[in-house]
This record gives sequence, C-alpha cells and structure tokens, in this order.
Amino acid sequence: MSRLREEVQGALRRLSERHGFQRRPGQEQAALIIADAIEGAARATIEAPTGSGKSLAALIPALAHAKSGGRVVIATFTNILAEQYWRKDLPIAMGLFDWPEDEPPKATYLVGRTRYACRLELERRAGTAIAERFLDKAENGTDSEFFSIAQRWQDRRLWREIAVPPACQGRKCTHYRDCFFYRARSAARSAKIVITNHSVFLSDLLVRQSTQGRQDLLGPYDFAILDEGHDFPQAAASAMSYSLNQEVLRQSLEVVQRALDDPSLQRGALKGLIPLAHKRFREGIRAAEEAYQRLGQVAEPGIVAVSPEELLFDPRVGRSQLQSHPSALAEFLDTVIAAYEGFFEALQKLKSARGARSAEEGDDEVFDMLLMYVAEILYQCKRMKEPDAVSLTYLDVEPRLSVNREVIDVGERLRALLEEGPPCAVLAATLTVDGSFQFLSQESGIRAQFEEALPPVFDFERHAALYVPSLDAIPDPSTSRDEDSAPLYYEAVAEQVQRILQTVGGRSLVLFHSRKEMEAVYRIVEERTSLPILMQQSSDAREVGERFRRDIRASLFAVRSFWTGFDAPGETLSCVVLVR
Ligand code: SF4
Repeated sequence: MSRLREEVQGALRRLSERHGFQRRPGQEQAALIIADAIEGAARATIEAPTGSGKSLAALIPALAHAKSGGRVVIATFTNILAEQYWRKDLPIAMGLFDWPEDEPPKATYLVGRTRYACRLELERRAGTAIAERFLDKAENGTDSEFFSIAQRWQDRRLWREIAVPPACQGRKCTHYRDCFFYRARSAARSAKIVITNHSVFLSDLLVRQSTQGRQDLLGPYDFAILDEGHDFPQAAASAMSYSLNQEVLRQSLEVVQRALDDPSLQRGALKGLIPLAHKRFREGIRAAEEAYQRLGQVAEPGIVAVSPEELLFDPRVGRSQLQSHPSALAEFLDTVIAAYEGFFEALQKLKSARGARSAEEGDDEVFDMLLMYVAEILYQCKRMKEPDAVSLTYLDVEPRLSVNREVIDVGERLRALLEEGPPCAVLAATLTVDGSFQFLSQESGIRAQFEEALPPVFDFERHAALYVPSLDAIPDPSTSRDEDSAPLYYEAVAEQVQRILQTVGGRSLVLFHSRKEMEAVYRIVEERTSLPILMQQSSDAREVGERFRRDIRASLFAVRSFWTGFDAPGETLSCVVLVR
C-alpha cells in the first residue's frame, strides 16, 4: 500500500474513533480516490451524495499529501462552504495526523481581493464607531466578518468605501505589514493547504495564461480539489464574462494614480520614466473615452457579435436580434486595447529598469500588482474582439453605455485552461445525469481518469416526504414579472410556504431564485405566523446561517449562497422548500 493511502486510512480510522463520528464507507472511498489521483497526477470526478462527509474526504488526502511537502488548493463555489472548510472541518482534519515535531502544515483561507477591508481606508474613518469595532474584532478582515458586526444598513454601506482597491501602494503603505489582504495573499503563496473559492482559483488560471505564466495568485501547487463541482462551469462563465464601460476606464486612472503616486518610487533609474509612462497611459485612456463618446452616438442596445457563427441559430440568441456591428465599436475596443497594452509594456520596462535596492523596498510589488490588474482588463477586452469561447457580445445603453461579453458555453475553453494547470478532483453531491459523467465533462471540460458515483447515504424513500403543490395552486411564475398579476403569484406562494411551515413547526430552509420574490413572500408569511423567520440580507450569509443553526424553531428565507454547501446538522433543518 502506498504511503499516502496508509496516511489517509490511518486518519480515517482515528476519525471513526472520535466521539460523534462513525465510519462512513462513501467518505473512505472518496478520500482514497483523491489520494490515488494525487499520487498518479490524474483527474478525478466523484459524486458523493449528501451525508457522505465530503469536506473531510477532501481535506484528509490533501493534508496527507501536505505532510510530505505537497501543496493542495481546495476551492468551493460559495464562500459559505469555504468558510465551513476553514473554520469547522480543517481543525478536525488537522487533529487526525501525527505531525513531525507537532508542527502541522501551514494552511490558509483566501478570498478575492475586494472581499477584504483596507486598513488605510479604515484609518481614514478612525473615530467612526463601526470602523473601530471592526478593527477591534476582525480576524481575517473579510466582508463576511464586517457584515456580522455591522447590523444596521447605515453601517453596511461603509463596505463599498473600505474594500481593498484593485491596486494600491502595497509594501509602501504604512499598513502593509498588518494589511488583511496582503497577509492572506502572502500566506496563500507559502501555505501547503489553500482554501479558497472557484472565482479565485479561476482568476489564478486566467492570469497565468494571459501573462504566459509570468504572474499568478496562488503560487505553484500540485493538486486542486474543486468542491461544489456542479457549479464550476457557472463560476467559469462569470469569471470569463465582462462588462466594459466608462467607469472601468475612470477607475483604472484612479488605481494607477494611487499606485504610482509615491515620490519614493520616482528615484534612481525610475525617475523620469514613471511620469512618462503615467502620462502616456492617461493619454491612452483619454483617447478611449473619446472613442466611447463616439460609440455612444451610434450605439443601439442588442447583440452585436456571436462566436461561433452557428450560435446565431441558437434559440437563446435568435438571428433577428443581431445588430449591425458599428465600426465605432471596433474603434473603441482598439483604442482601449492600445492604451492598456502600451501601459503593460511600459510597466514591464519599469520593472526591469528598477535597481536591486528598490526591488527589496517593494517597488516590484507595485509593478506586479499593476501588471496583474492591467493584464486582466487587457485579456477581457481582447476576448471581446477575438472570442475564445462560445460567447456573445452585446451593447447596453441604459443606465449607461456598456460593451458586454457573456460566455455561454465554457467547456472547450475550460478544458484548455485545466489541462495546462495541475491535476484536480471534482467533487459534488450531484454530478451525474442518468448515471453518467458525460454532461459534466461537456459543460466543464474536465476529462477524468477516475470517475465514481457513490451510493446515497440516506434512505430517502423511507425517511423523507416529498410535497409538490397541485398545478392550479400557484400561477405560472412568469406572471410575477407583470405588476398587476405579481401580487396574486406571491400570495399563492406565500400560502403554500406558510402551510408547510405550520405543518413542520418551522425548522425550514426556504430557497428562492430571486431576492425580489423572497422579500415579497417573506412580507406576507411573516405577518401571518408566530414562528420565527429569518431572511438573508445582501451580505450576511455567515451570520444569518449561524442564527438559523442556533434557533431550532426558526425558518430561513434565503437565495443563491444557501442553495449548495450550507450545513445545518440536527433538527434545526428538517424541511427544504424550493420555490421555482
Ligand atoms: S496595503 Fe493596500 S490594501 Fe493594504 S492597507 Fe495599505 S492601501 Fe489598503
């Protein structure tokens, strides 16, 4: 038996001996498949039904690999699940191994840049009660920590002002050493286990590819585990989709100014070069803004390009909707690309012109950050001009002109991306269609050497009841789009939901696709029942999830982030209502 398998089996045995845990054959099988995939540098897809203990099945082989020096990235679709991995499952998994000299491997939790608070911005708001309270309590400095502290909407609004900007002065900032984001990012580059979300994982792959491997976010790693794998294509589609408008151009002027506007940068070989590069960039953006105005004079809303052309015949697009492609659009994209391309090259020259001393002092970091920021915009604009996936480009003119790219089918594009990167295991409660992984392979581009669909853990036929309202109980959901008929629709949904809550005594998770629908139904049900009902606000998933777990009678009305990955053991979650 291989050393990795031995380590995994030892940890699983210790887990089953723990109070409150028992041996789970599905968990064991999933963990061993992942161990084999790590050892064989192979790809695996594993369907592990609810109750299999997926998170520990992922963490145990990852930690066993880390024990011999390997680096594993674990990515989930929702931040809720990533946090569960980090706060709840990782400490359990760590305790299952004998670590050399009692020193477990370094592990870290990383989310996207704009999900951290900037200490400099918080300092500028010193004296504000919420800023003080947050600084006092924050561990990671993430938005979920902030929203669990900021309860009032007046306080919550502050987040937009204090979130980390896309680029800043990095090491030159007085708060660099205790900066939430840089601490997390530098920990992620050296940690043996990185827990993150699909979006960061994909950004890393895209940045590596668009810079030919010169930049990355996560550093080198040798295996990735993608939990909630059924949502991976959706995460990829949103990572590859993009909206370009005047705001993007203006924001990049601010970002560049903020990063380069430091007298200490402008010395030695860089003196004179930075102001010149900065001036050229400003001129490039000004030209792009002028092209944007010209486009605004002729732009009509609608689809302007599809790739490949056969997409014209797809019912989702419809040939009749295709607008003529205004030459002003091509001119606008060319001008934007020229501005960012010129600046990207200038930044590379600046980086190589700086002396060894300035590299030590952190100039490199400012340049690396800007290079990554510019590379991302450049990549997206080039893909609007020369699409590399099944996608469409469309113009919006309300509330302002924007050029948008929407990726419809990511399969081929993802396949190329994933095949360039390290091997991975994809894990989820539901991955197969009619017992086959073929649909997943088409959608996500993953070609796996190991495929396994584990048997269900629960005997649903004996222990669960399914209730579907009769067809005439609820009007067609499309009627909710009409102002006159929407109240009837919401009333009917509310009546059904209320009846279910009364029958099971609360203890329900009620899931909606739209916030508007959730709020309308909540207002009606809340008035008519004495049972406690919680509702997810825009960014308080972690906190409201905790309250739901604690209050055994409560029901929770929630949207997207609770559809998958939310774990509420025991009676507090006895019924799931899907409104669709
Ligand atoms: S290093 Fe950047 S993100 Fe961090 S505190 Fe300073 S300005 Fe904010």
